Formats: sequence, structure tokens, C-alpha cells
Amino acid sequence: MEIDFSKNNELYNFFKELDRSIFIDNEYKDIAHHDSALPIGHEQTISQPSLVYGMTEKLKLDKSLKVLEIGTGSGYQTTFLAEFAGEVCTVERIDDLSKKAQKRLAKLGYKNVRFKIGDGSEGWAEFAPYDRIIVTAAAGKVPEPLVEQLKPGGWLLIPTGEQGLQDLLMIKKDEQGKVKEQSLGKVIFVELKGKYGWAH
Ligand code: SAM
Repeated sequence: MEIDFSKNNELYNFFKELDRSIFIDNEYKDIAHHDSALPIGHEQTISQPSLVYGMTEKLKLDKSLKVLEIGTGSGYQTTFLAEFAGEVCTVERIDDLSKKAQKRLAKLGYKNVRFKIGDGSEGWAEFAPYDRIIVTAAAGKVPEPLVEQLKPGGWLLIPTGEQGLQDLLMIKKDEQGKVKEQSLGKVIFVELKGKYGWAH
């Protein structure tokens, strides 16, 4: 994926300022500044910083937008969404990870995030439709409920493909509800589990 690292914009400054070690509470804390995914327990990872930056940049967020995130993980990506979008709903299937992320976001002072523990492959219908949906785990194919829960004019960013190497798809729904997808490049994410993801 091509990442636009133009400096002197709010996103870039936030990215540089945010201390990633806040989101890691194991032996990897000391290397939190490395630009790599790192283990956070439960066989899951905190995403690579440059990829979090790049994916956030692709979403073109502003405070008028409601965003759904699937795969809260450590809450690192969630923090970018909370900073730049108006409202964030985030779903994580692992109770312990979600609870730790909730504490971190609360400590950072964000009040615009709703957390759910459950199967995000089904989206979060209660607060749909969404202007943006970002999935930070890889699906074999695009979960239909996520497309349904997009607003007309909304965008869905999701890694899709085989376990081990995926295309990062940007799926855009037009005002008539027609969807178009484009690959932004190859990425590697852990599996999206659940009803519309890989088997448990
Ligand atoms: N963006 C996160 C961060 O910055 O820490 C990292 C996300 S990690 C690569 C992927 C996360 O997706 C894991 O925490 C995993 O438990 C979660 N996940 C996988 N399948 C899920 C599902 N069906 N519903 C919700 N979360 C899921």
C-alpha cells in the first residue's frame, strides 16, 4: 500500500506524538517504537504503526463521520479513529483485549467511542449505518453485513484474501447503493474469525 507521509498535517503530527507503548503491557513494551506488528496476547497483534497511519489516512476522516471498527485489539488504531472521527463504534471478540483497550481510551480522555465484545464479522447493526468501516483482521471474503451497514456514500476498508497475504480492499458505496472495490495493495493481517470470517 502506498502511504502518503506528507508532513505538517494533523494526522502526521498525532501519529508522531502518540506513544505506542501505552497500548502494550508485556515484554514488547520496550520496542513499541519499532515499525512492526507486535504480540499483545491471545495470539493477536498490535498493528504496524505505518499501516495504522496509512489506513487512517485512506479513510479521510472528519468530525462529521461515524466509524465502525472491527478488531479493537489494543485500541491503538481506535485512538486514531477517536481523534479524527466524530463517533466510533468498535467491536472485539476477545473480552480481555477489549477491556484493556476501554481503560486505555478512557485514560486518554476519549468519550466518543462505544465498545462491544462480540463477533464483528456481523458488524454492529444497532448503530448502523456508518460513514466508514475499517476492519483490522483479514476475511476470506467481504462479510455481507458490513456492506449492508455502510451508508450510501460510505467506505469500507478491509483486508481480504488468503491467510498469510491479503489485498487491502477499499469498497465504496455510491448514493444509489452500488458498490465498487479497489485493491490498495498487499497486507498481512491476523484472521477475522466469526460467522462471516474464518471458522473459530
Ligand atoms: N488494530 C488493532 C491494534 O491497533 O491494536 C489490532 C487488531 S489485531 C491485528 C486484530 C484483532 O481482530 C484481534 O484483536 C482479534 O481478536 C480481532 N478479531 C478477529 N476476529 C474478530 C471478530 N470476528 N470480531 C471482532 N474482533 C475480531
